[in-house]
Formats: sequence, C-alpha cells, structure tokens
Amino acid sequence: MAKKVTKIGVLTSGGDSPGMNAATRAVVRTAIYYGLEAFGIMRGYAGMIDNDIVPLHSRSVANIIQRGGTILKTARCKEFFHADGRKKAYENLKKLGIDGLIIIGGDGSFKGADIFSREFDIPCIGLPGTIDKDIAGSDFTIGFDTAVNTAVEAIDKIRDTADAHDRLFIIEVMGRDAGYIALHSGIATGAENILIPERKTDVEELVNGLLEKEKRKKLVNLVVVAEGDDFGGGNEVAKIIKERLPNADVRVCILGHIQRGGSPSCLDRLIASRMGYSAVECLIEGRHNVMVGIVNNRMSYTPLEKAVKAKQKINNEWLKIVKILAS
Ligand code: ADP
Repeated sequence: MAKKVTKIGVLTSGGDSPGMNAATRAVVRTAIYYGLEAFGIMRGYAGMIDNDIVPLHSRSVANIIQRGGTILKTARCKEFFHADGRKKAYENLKKLGIDGLIIIGGDGSFKGADIFSREFDIPCIGLPGTIDKDIAGSDFTIGFDTAVNTAVEAIDKIRDTADAHDRLFIIEVMGRDAGYIALHSGIATGAENILIPERKTDVEELVNGLLEKEKRKKLVNLVVVAEGDDFGGGNEVAKIIKERLPNADVRVCILGHIQRGGSPSCLDRLIASRMGYSAVECLIEGRHNVMVGIVNNRMSYTPLEKAVKAKQKINNEWLKIVKILAS
C-alpha cells in the first residue's frame, strides 16, 4: 500500500502558460481542504535544488485565478538533468517532509518528473501546462485556449489592415514543434494557408494557390505559419513569396510572446481548477506518477512515461477544411 501523503510541493516548470496560477490555487486549496500542508517550490526544479521552498496557505493563493504568468515563477534548470542535482533536490524535500509533488509544465518537465519519481520515493503528478497543446492524454492543456484566443484577436486586427491595403500578410504564431496554435487560430480567422511543423510544407502549392488568387483579384490573404514549420518561420516564408509574387504587397507579423501572457480564459481557469483538484486526489488515493488530463470531459490519468513519449496527432481533416473554406 502506498504511503500516506501529508505534505505536497507544487511547482511550475519550463515554458509558462496562462492558467498556471489557477492550477496552483486549486492544488493548494484542495490540499488544505483534505488536511494536507502545501508548499510552493519557486522557479521549477531550480527552487527544489536551491531550497527555495515556501509554505502556501489559502490566502497565499487569493486573487490569482485571473492572473497570467505564475506566482511560483518558472525556469529551465540544467542541474536537474544530472543525478547529483536531483539528489540535492530530493534531500531538500526530505528535510521539509514533502512527500508528494505536483508539477505543472510541459513534456520536458514531465521527463524530469518521471526520472525523479523512479529514483526517489516521492510520488509525482503532472498537470499539462503548455500553450502548445502537444501532449497526449488530454484534450486540453492549461494555457492553450488563452494563447489561441490571443492569436485570433491579433490576426483579426491584422485582417482589418490587410483588407484596407489589399495586402498579403504572413503571420507567425508560436509552436516550435507543434502546429495547434497555427491550426486553430488559422481556421478561426479564415486564413488562406496554414503551415505547421507536422506537415511538410509544399512551397509550390502555396505559391500556385496565391498566384491563382491573384488572378481572381483576391488580394487580401493571410498565411498563418507556426514558428517551427519545416520550411522556416514567417520571414523565410515571406522571402520566397516576395520572390515568386513580385506584385504582391507582402508584410510579416510575428506575434511572439504576447501569446504566453494575459488573463486566462474561462476554459483555462476551469480545466486548471479541475486538474489541480484531481492531482491532489490522485496523491491521496495513491495513484502515482501520472499526468492528469481531461479526455471527453472526464478526468484521465496517463503514466508520466507515456505522456512524454506520445504526441497528440494533428487531424488531417482539419487541414482539408482550411483548403475548402479559404477558396
Ligand atoms: P517544458 O516543461 O515546457 O517542456 P523544458 O523542456 O524546458 O520545458 O523542461 C523544463 C525542465 O524540466 C528542464 O529545464 C529540466 O530542468 C527538466 N527536464 C527536462 N527534461 C529532462 C530530463 N530528460 N531529465 C531531467 N530533467 C529534465
């Protein structure tokens, strides 16, 4: 039988995403409800190694559900890749009596948690906190909905100015390895083309499609490109289009870090609250070393080792929809 958990440490790690605070709040309040103590580990795994760990009370997480960023701060921590760094982290947790961990982060953070949970007797629960949505085992990740809505709002504004000048805009959105922000925001804003890392970019097809539209006097075009597209980011795509369509008035807009910030959407607050609550219940019930997700509106639990290996697959039908609707 699993040991009873009494003190929970919560941390946010890797890339930040809106809704991490709502998840932290849910973890702390649920822990307190069940009579457990909660500790905030600052700056992800770096705080575990540096012993930057603070007790959290119900009031510590007041007035944060609506705030972007993360009050716990986040970081990328090289030392945690090494066994001696992880040992140092374990010793710090032991000193404080922390016997359960909740890690809010992306697949890198889960890799770290998976290794740590195999080396030491501290159960780990992962919550998918990433704007990229590229984690298997959950229909949603905390922050994706807010990020994609930020992109949609920005692209709508770009369309207004593109329309006024009959311009072709290349808009680069975030997504180094994943095209979900590009795909969702592109469909939602009526983009002509969406270029994503998961699919080989056919430049000929892109250029021919735009040439054909030029002939039809369809001059306002939006091309949404994920930053990690195999052909390159927004600037590379613009370069080739300018070469091949010299008459087109081409502009580039790179949305960048605004997609990470801002007040989380209702959906992100909701899933962060449900996942945070569920993570504490997992620790209490002895369901260890899993990532908590939501699949078909029910809580789901994926072993950490699986969550880090599998990626969500892009639905090809969605790409077909883009082509048909942007004609
Ligand atoms: P994300 O969680 O957003 O994917 P990263 O990939 O940067 O972000 O991972 C966050 C942190 O998780 C890293 O800085 C490191 O401390 C830890 N981590 C990632 N991969 C490993 C690994 N293979 N072994 C140990 N720790 C890891």
